[in-house]
Parts: sequence; structure tokens; C-alpha cells
Amino acid sequence: MNSADEAQMLDAISRWLERDVRAKVRALEHDDVYPQEMVEQMRELGLFGATIPQAYGGLGLPASTYAKIVALISEVWMSLTGIFNSHLIMAAAVARFGTEEQKRRFLPKFASGEVRGGLALTEPDCGTDLQAIRTRAVRAGDHYVVNGTKTWISNGIQGTCFALLVKTDPAAQPRHKGMSLLLAEKRDGFRVSKKLEKIGYKGIDSAELIFEDYQVPADCLIGGEEGRGFHHAIGGLELGRINVAARGVGVARAALKDAVAYSQLRKTFGKPICEHQAIQLKLGEMATRCEAARLLVENAARAYDAGERCDMEAGMAKYFASEAALENSIEAMRIHGGYGYSKEFNVERYYRDAPLMCIGEGTNEMQRIIIARQLIARNPA
Ligand SMILES: Cc1cc2nc3c(=O)[nH]c(=O)nc-3n(C[C@H](O)[C@H](O)[C@H](O)COP(=O)(O)OP(=O)(O)OC[C@H]3O[C@@H](n4cnc5c(N)ncnc54)[C@H](O)[C@@H]3O)c2cc1C
Repeated sequence: MNSADEAQMLDAISRWLERDVRAKVRALEHDDVYPQEMVEQMRELGLFGATIPQAYGGLGLPASTYAKIVALISEVWMSLTGIFNSHLIMAAAVARFGTEEQKRRFLPKFASGEVRGGLALTEPDCGTDLQAIRTRAVRAGDHYVVNGTKTWISNGIQGTCFALLVKTDPAAQPRHKGMSLLLAEKRDGFRVSKKLEKIGYKGIDSAELIFEDYQVPADCLIGGEEGRGFHHAIGGLELGRINVAARGVGVARAALKDAVAYSQLRKTFGKPICEHQAIQLKLGEMATRCEAARLLVENAARAYDAGERCDMEAGMAKYFASEAALENSIEAMRIHGGYGYSKEFNVERYYRDAPLMCIGEGTNEMQRIIIARQLIARNPA
């Protein structure tokens, strides 16, 4: 995609956000309502196929353009990006590791948004230590029989298809060799047991999913070979981390913009608070964080697009940008004084949404460990 095409796409999304989204966010968010109308509009914009190759009906956008889209939308309502982010990570697993038949069967429906879903990895007993999952798939003729529970699954209620991480050989050593990734479509044996209540990231549904003697056709094993699931699931996380980092940039920027505007309107001791140095120090730090986060995301996305190894770069971007969102949202709250604690301003949403980005797609504790390990591996003494 050339820069003129990218500018045109970003412009179309900006116009949609101002015309159909911004004014409706507060009510939908406070009532935790799934934004069905906006989902249809995102389908029309092609967002459910944003990173799916054009040969399979998607837009085939590079990660660098995709990250800019995610940041732009997150500046208005971060939850909207979750509806297509984890869907696209599921699609990326099929596009990168699926058989040709699986690509032809699933990707066009994912790209149009006709079939939507996400990634089902986490279980009640484990998230970071994914190799400890207990969901079991046993081969029986031409299908697998799956039993287990997944939790915190984004789009779990509204979605109909999930990349489901299972154990096909629980005794395997190392443990990851016994893991496989299945494309699981909702039908008998696959049910939503509850909607999870959250302090933020509202609108998008997070659910617990239960599998009871659920049958998956064997040709829905991604790549057709058992024992590759952990590798396939982790392979999607680099794009996932760039995703979350871009969301962080959006929220950090929204907090900055609101703080810059409010600080010029609010007066204390005879002048706008933006003229007090204590407020200027905050604004200076917030703006610097936004720029640094944006540059780290661009750097990681460039490496991803070039096909370079980028776990360290994506980890740095995810860690820094999500912490920037958290810090900027708290600073914006302080700058708004009492109004920062009011439901009538957007600031309260930012500091309810921001912590999620420090947890999802690998916690920020794990990101720093990944960065350090890579640093050591790339610089042997
Ligand atoms: C709103 C929301 C949406 C989500 N969406 C999805 C989804 O769509 N699909 C999905 O599969 N999952 C999803 N998740 C789950 C998310 O990925 C996990 O919560 C996350 O990976 C952390 O796992 P955990 O909660 O089990 O924490 P734990 O793994 O129990 O970690 C607890 C704490 O211990 C730390 N820790 C763990 N191991 C180490 C270590 N080796 N060294 C240092 N510190 C460590 C962690 O950093 C954390 O601080 C979502 C979660 C939320 C809140």
C-alpha cells in the first residue's frame, strides 16, 4: 500500500469515527452494550479482513498501516478494536500455518466478517503459563472430541468461530509438543457459560466457554499436523502485541488531547491551569510518552512487515505503549481535578480501559523478561 492509499484509508476511518461513533460511545460504554451497528459499519470498511491476504478476500494491509488504524480507532473507543483484533489473530494463524484447503474455506468468510471470532487460549487455571492448559482433544476417527473450559475469551458470545488451543498429547515432553490449535465453530457441545463483568473494555463481550464432548472435524486442525499448536498460537502474538501497543498509543493520545483542551479552559488563581508549571510538566511528559510509544510501534511494525524477527521490538512497543496509556490516563484524571472522577467526561473511561493493555497478549512483566532474554541472545559475551 502506498502512502496516498494509506492516507485515504485513514481519512475514511476518521470520517466514520466522527460521523457515526464518537457521540454514541459514552452511552454504549456505560450500559455495556455490544455496538452492533458499528460492527456492521466496520464490516463495510473491510476491517475484519484488514490483514488477511487479498488473495483470500482481505485488504492485505501491512502491520504498519494496520497499527495506525488501531491507534486512530482506540483514540475514540478502544473496545471497538478488540472486536476485529483477536478475530484477525485467529485469521493470521490460518493464513500463516493453515493448509491451502483451510485458507480457501475460512479466510474469505473471516475477511467479510460473515464469520467472526477470536482466540481461545486462556483457561481458569492458566494464562501466562499456556503450556499448562488442560483442555483435551482426543482423536476419534475423522474428528476430535474436546472437553475443557476457556475463559476471558474476547468475542466469546458474539463470535462463532475460535482458534482453540488444546492438548492432543498431555504426556508429551516438552509440554508444547502435545499442543494443537483447532478451528472451533459453535455447535452442540460448545457453549458460553457466562459473560464476564469488567471494570472497563466494555461493549465487547468477554466470556467463559465450555466444551463438553464437543466434536471438531479432524480437517479443522490448523496445518493438519498435531503438536504444532503452541508454536502457531505464539506465532500470532507478535502481531497481537503490535495491536495492543497501537491501542495504547490511541488511549495515551486521547488522554493527552483531553488534558490539553481542558487545561486551557479551566482557570484557577486568575489564569488557565495550563499556565501553571505543575500542569505543564505533566503535559510535557504525556506528549513525550505519546511520541515515544508511536515510534516504538512503528519500529516493531516495520520489522514485522520486513519479515524480521521482532519479538523484542513488539515486546518493547507493547510494554511501553500500554504503560504510557495507563500513566497518561491517570495524569489526565489529575489535570481534570474533580471532573476527572465524573462519568460525564471521557477521562474516567481511559483509566478503566488502560490497565487491560498491561495484561492482555502477555503481561508487561513477561514482556520485560522477553526483552531481556532477546537482548542477551542477540549480544553474546
Ligand atoms: C478483558 C480481557 C480480555 C482477554 N481476552 C483474551 C482472549 O481473547 N483470549 C485469550 O486466550 N485470553 C484472553 N485474556 C486472558 C489474558 O491473556 C490473560 O489474563 C493473561 O495472559 C494473564 O494470564 P492470567 O490472568 O492467567 O495471569 P497469571 O498467568 O496467573 O499471572 C499472574 C501474575 O503473575 C505474573 N507472572 C506469571 N508468570 C510469571 C513469570 N514466569 N515471571 C514473572 N511474572 C510472572 C504475571 O505477569 C501476572 O502479574 C483476556 C484477559 C482480559 C482481562
